[in-house]
Amino acid sequence: MTYPIQKTDAEWLDTLRAKGAEPVAYQVTRHAATERPFTGRYEQHWADGSYHCICCGAKLFDADTKFDAGCGWPSFHQAIPGAITEIVDHSHHMVRTETVCSQCGAHLGHVFEDGPQPTGLRYCMNSASLQFQEPEA
Ligand SMILES: [Zn+2]
Repeated sequence: MTYPIQKTDAEWLDTLRAKGAEPVAYQVTRHAATERPFTGRYEQHWADGSYHCICCGAKLFDADTKFDAGCGWPSFHQAIPGAITEIVDHSHHMVRTETVCSQCGAHLGHVFEDGPQPTGLRYCMNSASLQFQEPEA
């Protein structure tokens, strides 16, 4: 799969370092690692605003779709339309739906069908893949 934004691993490392991303952000976004639960900076972060891809800045979620799933990762019930691409993931002997940034292919987390209404979805994200932005005045 190819994405509109292409960079080498070295370029992504530089980009993430320049943005002050969490140390695990490179392994999470470019190599589909998962941060440890209850460690991410956005797990209990409830300010008004929006969440963007840490790699390319694409807007992924509005803060008002975030909810406390109790699972240790920031969770959302709705993504910005078109912002996220879903890929069936057969790793770890499970069938899950991986979510990646539609613009740059950054691994974000997984989406599950046990979320709250009205969508019934739970986007279980890595904090390290996200960058919060305050609402624009
Ligand atoms: Zn991105």
